[in-house]
Amino acid sequence: MIMATKVKLYPNEAQKVLLEKHFGSCRFVYNYFLAKRDEYYLTHKDAEKSSLNYLDTQNMLIELKKQYPWLYEVNSQSLQMSLRSLDNAFKNFFHKNADHPKFRKKGKNDYFAIPQHVKIEKNRICFPKFSEGIYFKGSKKKLSEIKEINQMVVTKDAGDYYCSIIYEKEDNAPERKPLSAENSVGIDLGLEKFATLSDGIVIENLRFIEKVEKRIKRLQKWLSRKKNGSNNRKKLVLRLQRRYRKLRNMREDFLDKVSTAIAKQYDTIIMEDLNVQGMQQNHHIAKSIGDVSLYSFKQKLLWKADKYGKNLVEIGRFDPSSKLCSNCGNLKKDLKLSDRIYHCDVCGVTLDRDYNASRNIRKMGLIKVGLVQPESTPVETATSGLRGIYPYRQMSGRGSRKLRGFS
Ligand SMILES: [Zn+2]
Repeated sequence: MIMATKVKLYPNEAQKVLLEKHFGSCRFVYNYFLAKRDEYYLTHKDAEKSSLNYLDTQNMLIELKKQYPWLYEVNSQSLQMSLRSLDNAFKNFFHKNADHPKFRKKGKNDYFAIPQHVKIEKNRICFPKFSEGIYFKGSKKKLSEIKEINQMVVTKDAGDYYCSIIYEKEDNAPERKPLSAENSVGIDLGLEKFATLSDGIVIENLRFIEKVEKRIKRLQKWLSRKKNGSNNRKKLVLRLQRRYRKLRNMREDFLDKVSTAIAKQYDTIIMEDLNVQGMQQNHHIAKSIGDVSLYSFKQKLLWKADKYGKNLVEIGRFDPSSKLCSNCGNLKKDLKLSDRIYHCDVCGVTLDRDYNASRNIRKMGLIKVGLVQPESTPVETATSGLRGIYPYRQMSGRGSRKLRGFS
Protein backbone atom coordinates (compact mmCIF):
# COMPACT_ATOMS: atom_id res chain seq x y z
CA MET A 1 0.00 0.00 0.00
CA ILE A 2 1.24 3.50 -0.85
CA MET A 3 1.35 5.82 2.14
CA ALA A 4 2.59 9.32 2.77
CA THR A 5 3.85 11.29 5.71
CA LYS A 6 5.06 14.84 6.02
CA VAL A 7 8.00 15.83 8.21
CA LYS A 8 9.42 19.23 9.06
CA LEU A 9 12.99 19.93 8.01
CA TYR A 10 15.47 21.95 10.07
CA PRO A 11 18.23 22.80 7.57
CA ASN A 12 21.36 24.72 8.60
CA GLU A 13 22.29 27.88 6.70
CA ALA A 14 24.34 26.11 4.01
CA GLN A 15 21.59 23.57 3.49
CA LYS A 16 19.01 26.35 3.19
CA VAL A 17 21.05 27.87 0.37
CA LEU A 18 21.18 24.56 -1.49
CA LEU A 19 17.47 23.93 -0.92
CA GLU A 20 16.70 27.35 -2.38
CA LYS A 21 18.92 26.53 -5.38
CA HIS A 22 16.86 23.40 -5.92
CA PHE A 23 13.58 25.34 -5.77
CA GLY A 24 14.95 27.97 -8.14
CA SER A 25 16.50 25.58 -10.67
CA CYS A 26 13.43 23.33 -10.78
CA ARG A 27 11.20 26.35 -11.28
CA PHE A 28 13.54 27.68 -13.98
CA VAL A 29 13.51 24.36 -15.85
CA TYR A 30 9.73 24.12 -15.54
CA ASN A 31 9.13 27.61 -16.86
CA TYR A 32 11.77 27.36 -19.56
CA PHE A 33 10.24 24.22 -21.04
CA LEU A 34 6.71 25.47 -20.56
CA ALA A 35 7.63 28.35 -22.86
CA LYS A 36 9.51 26.00 -25.23
CA ARG A 37 6.59 23.62 -25.53
CA ASP A 38 4.18 26.47 -26.25
CA GLU A 39 6.57 27.99 -28.77
CA TYR A 40 7.07 24.65 -30.50
CA TYR A 41 3.36 24.11 -30.77
CA LEU A 42 2.75 27.56 -32.26
CA THR A 43 5.39 27.02 -34.93
CA HIS A 44 4.56 23.37 -35.67
CA LYS A 45 0.78 23.39 -35.42
CA ASP A 46 0.32 21.83 -38.83
CA ALA A 47 3.40 19.64 -38.81
CA GLU A 48 3.24 15.91 -38.30
CA LYS A 49 4.85 16.29 -34.90
CA SER A 50 3.00 19.21 -33.40
CA SER A 51 4.19 19.08 -29.80
CA LEU A 52 7.20 18.27 -27.66
CA ASN A 53 6.94 15.32 -25.29
CA TYR A 54 8.74 14.44 -22.09
CA LEU A 55 11.64 12.71 -23.82
CA ASP A 56 12.21 15.67 -26.15
CA THR A 57 12.49 18.02 -23.20
CA GLN A 58 14.75 15.60 -21.34
CA ASN A 59 17.19 15.65 -24.27
CA MET A 60 16.98 19.41 -24.52
CA LEU A 61 17.73 19.68 -20.82
CA ILE A 62 21.20 18.17 -21.40
CA GLU A 63 21.98 21.05 -23.76
CA LEU A 64 20.43 23.61 -21.42
CA LYS A 65 22.75 22.54 -18.62
CA LYS A 66 25.78 23.28 -20.78
CA GLN A 67 24.39 26.74 -21.36
CA TYR A 68 23.61 27.31 -17.66
CA PRO A 69 26.28 25.41 -15.71
CA TRP A 70 24.73 26.34 -12.35
CA LEU A 71 22.10 23.74 -13.10
CA TYR A 72 24.79 21.14 -12.37
CA GLU A 73 24.77 22.21 -8.72
CA VAL A 74 21.40 20.58 -8.11
CA ASN A 75 20.23 16.98 -8.27
CA SER A 76 19.64 16.18 -11.94
CA GLN A 77 16.80 13.83 -11.09
CA SER A 78 14.92 16.68 -9.43
CA LEU A 79 15.20 18.66 -12.67
CA GLN A 80 13.85 15.69 -14.58
CA MET A 81 10.96 15.44 -12.13
CA SER A 82 10.20 19.06 -12.96
CA LEU A 83 9.91 18.07 -16.62
CA ARG A 84 7.76 15.15 -15.60
CA SER A 85 5.35 17.35 -13.68
CA LEU A 86 5.22 19.80 -16.59
CA ASP A 87 4.41 16.87 -18.87
CA ASN A 88 1.60 15.79 -16.55
CA ALA A 89 0.26 19.35 -16.47
CA PHE A 90 0.15 19.34 -20.28
CA LYS A 91 -1.46 15.92 -20.38
CA ASN A 92 -4.18 17.10 -18.00
CA PHE A 93 -4.65 20.12 -20.19
CA PHE A 94 -4.91 18.02 -23.38
CA HIS A 95 -7.43 15.73 -21.71
CA LYS A 96 -9.41 18.79 -20.66
CA ASN A 97 -8.97 18.03 -16.98
CA ALA A 98 -7.11 21.24 -16.27
CA ASP A 99 -6.33 24.68 -17.57
CA HIS A 100 -3.22 25.39 -19.61
CA PRO A 101 -0.12 25.03 -17.38
CA LYS A 102 0.93 28.27 -15.70
CA PHE A 103 4.38 29.65 -15.04
CA ARG A 104 5.59 28.91 -11.55
CA LYS A 105 6.31 31.96 -9.42
CA LYS A 106 9.00 32.36 -6.84
CA GLY A 107 7.70 32.08 -3.31
CA LYS A 108 4.53 30.41 -4.50
CA ASN A 109 4.36 26.64 -4.64
CA ASP A 110 8.10 26.23 -4.12
CA TYR A 111 8.83 22.53 -4.38
CA PHE A 112 11.09 19.90 -5.85
CA ALA A 113 10.86 16.14 -5.99
CA ILE A 114 13.50 13.49 -5.41
CA PRO A 115 12.62 10.10 -6.89
CA GLN A 116 15.65 8.08 -5.82
CA HIS A 117 18.73 7.75 -3.66
CA VAL A 118 17.24 9.24 -0.51
CA LYS A 119 18.09 7.77 2.83
CA ILE A 120 16.70 8.29 6.28
CA GLU A 121 19.34 7.94 8.96
CA LYS A 122 18.05 8.31 12.51
CA ASN A 123 16.82 11.91 12.62
CA ARG A 124 18.35 13.08 9.37
CA ILE A 125 17.26 12.81 5.74
CA CYS A 126 20.05 12.51 3.21
CA PHE A 127 19.39 13.97 -0.23
CA PRO A 128 21.72 13.61 -3.21
CA LYS A 129 24.05 16.63 -3.65
CA PHE A 130 23.80 17.49 0.06
CA SER A 131 27.02 16.77 1.90
CA GLU A 132 25.23 15.95 5.15
CA GLY A 133 21.76 14.89 6.12
CA ILE A 134 19.12 17.48 7.05
CA TYR A 135 17.73 17.26 10.56
CA PHE A 136 13.98 16.59 10.68
CA LYS A 137 11.06 15.86 13.00
CA GLY A 138 8.08 13.67 12.14
CA SER A 139 5.77 10.89 13.26
CA LYS A 140 7.88 7.98 14.56
CA LYS A 141 5.03 5.55 14.07
CA LYS A 142 4.71 6.36 10.37
CA LEU A 143 8.44 6.42 9.80
CA SER A 144 8.78 2.98 11.34
CA GLU A 145 6.40 1.42 8.83
CA ILE A 146 8.35 2.55 5.74
CA LYS A 147 9.30 -0.46 3.69
CA GLU A 148 10.54 1.35 0.64
CA ILE A 149 10.66 5.05 -0.24
CA ASN A 150 8.99 5.87 -3.56
CA GLN A 151 9.58 9.56 -3.69
CA MET A 152 10.19 12.63 -1.58
CA VAL A 153 8.85 16.10 -2.22
CA VAL A 154 10.40 19.09 -0.50
CA THR A 155 8.20 22.17 -0.08
CA LYS A 156 8.50 25.58 1.48
CA ASP A 157 5.57 27.01 3.34
CA ALA A 158 5.51 30.31 5.21
CA GLY A 159 9.30 30.28 5.54
CA ASP A 160 9.48 26.69 6.83
CA TYR A 161 10.70 23.63 4.97
CA TYR A 162 8.82 20.33 4.78
CA CYS A 163 9.42 16.98 3.19
CA SER A 164 6.61 14.65 2.10
CA ILE A 165 7.73 11.05 2.06
CA ILE A 166 5.73 8.79 -0.20
CA TYR A 167 6.46 5.20 0.66
CA GLU A 168 5.46 1.58 0.33
CA LYS A 169 4.00 -0.04 3.40
CA GLU A 170 3.64 -3.74 4.17
CA ASP A 171 0.33 -4.71 2.63
CA ASN A 172 -2.06 -5.61 5.38
CA ALA A 173 -5.30 -4.15 4.07
CA PRO A 174 -8.30 -6.23 5.08
CA GLU A 175 -10.22 -8.20 2.49
CA ARG A 176 -12.88 -6.09 0.85
CA LYS A 177 -16.42 -6.55 2.17
CA PRO A 178 -18.90 -7.76 -0.45
CA LEU A 179 -21.08 -5.11 -2.03
CA SER A 180 -24.34 -5.03 -0.17
CA ALA A 181 -27.38 -2.83 0.25
CA GLU A 182 -27.19 -3.45 3.94
CA ASN A 183 -25.08 -0.90 5.70
CA SER A 184 -24.83 1.18 2.54
CA VAL A 185 -25.03 4.94 2.51
CA GLY A 186 -25.59 7.67 -0.06
CA ILE A 187 -23.70 10.90 0.49
CA ASP A 188 -24.74 14.27 -0.85
CA LEU A 189 -21.82 16.65 -0.63
CA GLY A 190 -23.02 20.15 -0.27
CA LEU A 191 -22.19 23.76 -0.08
CA GLU A 192 -24.11 24.90 2.96
CA LYS A 193 -23.80 21.65 4.82
CA PHE A 194 -20.64 19.66 4.17
CA ALA A 195 -22.44 16.35 3.76
CA THR A 196 -25.88 14.86 4.16
CA LEU A 197 -26.12 11.09 4.53
CA SER A 198 -29.05 8.97 3.41
CA ASP A 199 -29.64 7.74 6.96
CA GLY A 200 -30.24 11.30 8.10
CA ILE A 201 -26.83 12.18 9.50
CA VAL A 202 -25.77 15.71 8.68
CA ILE A 203 -22.16 16.87 8.83
CA GLU A 204 -21.92 20.64 9.10
CA ASN A 205 -19.08 22.70 7.75
CA LEU A 206 -16.72 23.80 10.45
CA ARG A 207 -17.47 27.20 11.88
CA PHE A 208 -13.96 27.88 13.11
CA ILE A 209 -12.71 27.62 9.56
CA GLU A 210 -14.90 30.61 8.81
CA LYS A 211 -13.26 32.49 11.66
CA VAL A 212 -9.79 31.92 10.26
CA GLU A 213 -11.04 32.97 6.84
CA LYS A 214 -12.27 36.23 8.32
CA ARG A 215 -8.86 36.89 9.83
CA ILE A 216 -7.22 36.15 6.49
CA LYS A 217 -9.49 38.67 4.79
CA ARG A 218 -8.56 41.29 7.38
CA LEU A 219 -4.84 40.64 6.89
CA GLN A 220 -5.27 40.90 3.13
CA LYS A 221 -6.88 44.31 3.60
CA TRP A 222 -3.99 45.49 5.76
CA LEU A 223 -1.53 44.14 3.25
CA SER A 224 -3.06 46.12 0.41
CA ARG A 225 -2.30 49.33 2.34
CA LYS A 226 1.38 48.53 2.97
CA LYS A 227 4.12 49.88 0.73
CA ASN A 228 5.77 47.46 -1.67
CA GLY A 229 9.10 46.16 -0.44
CA SER A 230 8.70 47.51 3.09
CA ASN A 231 9.69 45.42 6.07
CA ASN A 232 6.20 45.62 7.51
CA ARG A 233 4.85 44.22 4.31
CA LYS A 234 7.25 41.26 4.41
CA LYS A 235 6.22 40.53 7.98
CA LEU A 236 2.58 40.69 7.07
CA VAL A 237 3.06 38.39 4.07
CA LEU A 238 4.64 35.81 6.36
CA ARG A 239 1.77 36.14 8.83
CA LEU A 240 -0.70 35.68 6.02
CA GLN A 241 1.12 32.59 4.77
CA ARG A 242 1.02 31.12 8.27
CA ARG A 243 -2.75 31.73 8.48
CA TYR A 244 -3.21 30.01 5.13
CA ARG A 245 -1.19 27.08 6.36
CA LYS A 246 -3.31 26.88 9.50
CA LEU A 247 -6.47 26.98 7.43
CA ARG A 248 -5.19 24.24 5.14
CA ASN A 249 -4.20 22.06 8.07
CA MET A 250 -7.58 22.51 9.72
CA ARG A 251 -9.39 21.58 6.54
CA GLU A 252 -7.23 18.54 5.95
CA ASP A 253 -7.77 17.46 9.53
CA PHE A 254 -11.53 17.86 9.18
CA LEU A 255 -11.61 15.93 5.91
CA ASP A 256 -9.45 13.21 7.43
CA LYS A 257 -11.76 12.76 10.38
CA VAL A 258 -14.96 12.73 8.36
CA SER A 259 -13.64 10.33 5.72
CA THR A 260 -12.28 7.96 8.35
CA ALA A 261 -15.56 7.94 10.27
CA ILE A 262 -17.58 7.23 7.12
CA ALA A 263 -15.25 4.53 5.84
CA LYS A 264 -15.34 2.79 9.23
CA GLN A 265 -19.09 2.98 9.69
CA TYR A 266 -20.46 1.91 6.29
CA ASP A 267 -19.64 -1.03 4.02
CA THR A 268 -20.85 0.47 0.75
CA ILE A 269 -20.48 4.19 0.23
CA ILE A 270 -22.18 5.87 -2.70
CA MET A 271 -21.46 9.36 -3.93
CA GLU A 272 -21.65 11.45 -7.05
CA ASP A 273 -18.77 11.54 -9.45
CA LEU A 274 -17.29 14.99 -8.97
CA ASN A 275 -16.36 17.32 -11.72
CA VAL A 276 -14.69 20.00 -9.71
CA GLN A 277 -13.62 22.00 -12.73
CA GLY A 278 -17.08 22.00 -14.20
CA MET A 279 -18.51 23.15 -10.92
CA GLN A 280 -16.00 25.95 -10.56
CA GLN A 281 -17.16 27.43 -13.83
CA ASN A 282 -20.43 28.12 -12.11
CA HIS A 283 -19.65 31.46 -10.59
CA HIS A 284 -21.88 31.22 -7.55
CA ILE A 285 -20.58 28.05 -6.05
CA ALA A 286 -16.90 28.51 -6.85
CA LYS A 287 -16.03 29.84 -3.43
CA SER A 288 -17.82 27.13 -1.57
CA ILE A 289 -16.16 24.42 -3.62
CA GLY A 290 -12.81 25.68 -2.43
CA ASP A 291 -14.16 25.85 1.11
CA VAL A 292 -15.21 22.29 1.41
CA SER A 293 -12.40 20.80 -0.64
CA LEU A 294 -14.61 18.17 -2.17
CA TYR A 295 -11.94 16.75 -4.39
CA SER A 296 -9.54 16.21 -1.55
CA PHE A 297 -12.35 14.58 0.41
CA LYS A 298 -13.06 12.10 -2.35
CA GLN A 299 -9.39 11.17 -2.60
CA LYS A 300 -9.28 10.53 1.11
CA LEU A 301 -12.46 8.50 1.03
CA LEU A 302 -11.17 6.37 -1.85
CA TRP A 303 -8.00 5.69 -0.02
CA LYS A 304 -9.70 4.91 3.29
CA ALA A 305 -12.25 2.63 1.65
CA ASP A 306 -9.24 0.59 0.52
CA LYS A 307 -7.68 0.74 3.92
CA TYR A 308 -10.79 -0.57 5.71
CA GLY A 309 -11.86 -2.97 2.93
CA LYS A 310 -15.00 -1.02 2.05
CA ASN A 311 -16.65 -0.21 -1.28
CA LEU A 312 -16.95 3.19 -2.91
CA VAL A 313 -19.50 3.48 -5.73
CA GLU A 314 -19.76 6.57 -7.88
CA ILE A 315 -22.82 7.55 -9.86
CA GLY A 316 -22.91 9.88 -12.86
CA ARG A 317 -22.88 13.51 -11.95
CA PHE A 318 -25.60 14.29 -14.47
CA ASP A 319 -28.10 11.98 -12.85
CA PRO A 320 -30.73 14.34 -11.44
CA SER A 321 -30.36 13.22 -7.85
CA SER A 322 -31.74 16.47 -6.45
CA LYS A 323 -34.71 16.72 -8.78
CA LEU A 324 -36.19 13.28 -8.15
CA CYS A 325 -38.57 12.61 -5.32
CA SER A 326 -36.94 9.94 -3.21
CA ASN A 327 -40.36 8.86 -2.05
CA CYS A 328 -42.30 8.35 -5.30
CA GLY A 329 -39.80 9.02 -8.11
CA ASN A 330 -41.51 12.07 -9.52
CA LEU A 331 -39.13 14.33 -11.42
CA LYS A 332 -39.45 17.94 -10.39
CA LYS A 333 -37.98 19.80 -13.33
CA ASP A 334 -38.37 23.29 -11.93
CA LEU A 335 -36.39 22.70 -8.71
CA LYS A 336 -34.11 25.69 -8.26
CA LEU A 337 -30.68 25.72 -6.60
CA SER A 338 -32.15 28.07 -4.01
CA ASP A 339 -34.94 25.67 -3.03
CA ARG A 340 -33.70 24.19 0.23
CA ILE A 341 -36.82 22.11 0.76
CA TYR A 342 -38.02 19.44 -1.64
CA HIS A 343 -41.77 19.35 -1.79
CA CYS A 344 -43.26 16.72 -4.06
CA ASP A 345 -46.47 17.73 -5.83
CA VAL A 346 -47.29 14.11 -6.65
CA CYS A 347 -47.02 12.27 -3.33
CA GLY A 348 -46.97 15.33 -1.12
CA VAL A 349 -43.78 14.49 0.75
CA THR A 350 -41.67 17.34 2.11
CA LEU A 351 -37.98 16.67 2.68
CA ASP A 352 -34.78 18.57 3.20
CA ARG A 353 -33.30 19.05 -0.27
CA ASP A 354 -29.94 17.44 0.49
CA TYR A 355 -31.49 14.56 2.42
CA ASN A 356 -33.74 13.84 -0.56
CA ALA A 357 -30.68 13.90 -2.86
CA SER A 358 -28.65 11.59 -0.63
CA ARG A 359 -31.45 9.00 -0.65
CA ASN A 360 -31.56 9.14 -4.45
CA ILE A 361 -27.79 8.82 -4.65
CA ARG A 362 -27.90 5.70 -2.51
CA LYS A 363 -30.58 4.11 -4.62
CA MET A 364 -28.91 5.03 -7.93
CA GLY A 365 -25.67 3.51 -6.69
CA LEU A 366 -27.36 0.30 -5.61
CA ILE A 367 -29.06 0.03 -9.00
CA LYS A 368 -25.76 0.71 -10.75
CA VAL A 369 -24.03 -2.22 -9.04
CA GLY A 370 -27.09 -4.45 -9.49
CA LEU A 371 -28.12 -4.77 -5.86
CA VAL A 372 -31.50 -3.18 -6.42
CA GLN A 373 -33.66 -3.88 -9.44
CA PRO A 374 -35.04 -0.85 -11.20
CA GLU A 375 -38.83 -0.95 -11.05
CA SER A 376 -41.05 0.36 -13.79
CA THR A 377 -43.25 3.20 -12.84
CA PRO A 378 -46.33 5.00 -14.00
CA VAL A 379 -44.86 8.35 -13.00
CA GLU A 380 -42.67 10.25 -15.40
CA THR A 381 -38.96 9.86 -14.74
CA ALA A 382 -36.01 11.53 -16.37
CA THR A 383 -34.64 8.72 -18.49
CA SER A 384 -35.24 5.00 -18.70
CA GLY A 385 -32.04 4.43 -16.77
CA LEU A 386 -33.55 6.18 -13.82
CA ARG A 387 -36.73 4.16 -13.67
CA GLY A 388 -37.40 2.77 -10.28
CA ILE A 389 -35.24 5.05 -8.26
CA TYR A 390 -38.04 4.58 -5.78
CA PRO A 391 -39.78 3.51 -3.72
CA TYR A 392 -37.60 3.85 -0.72
CA ARG A 393 -38.54 2.16 2.43
CA GLN A 394 -39.19 4.76 5.03
CA MET A 395 -36.10 5.37 7.04
CA SER A 396 -36.43 6.08 10.66
CA GLY A 397 -34.22 7.80 13.13
CA ARG A 398 -33.45 10.87 11.08
CA GLY A 399 -31.24 13.10 13.13
CA SER A 400 -30.91 10.65 15.96
CA ARG A 401 -28.06 8.62 14.48
CA LYS A 402 -24.52 9.72 14.94
CA LEU A 403 -21.35 9.04 13.09
CA ARG A 404 -19.14 7.01 15.35
CA GLY A 405 -15.78 8.53 16.08
CA PHE A 406 -16.88 11.87 14.79
CA SER A 407 -18.98 14.50 16.45
ZN1 LIG B 1 -43.10 12.19 -4.42
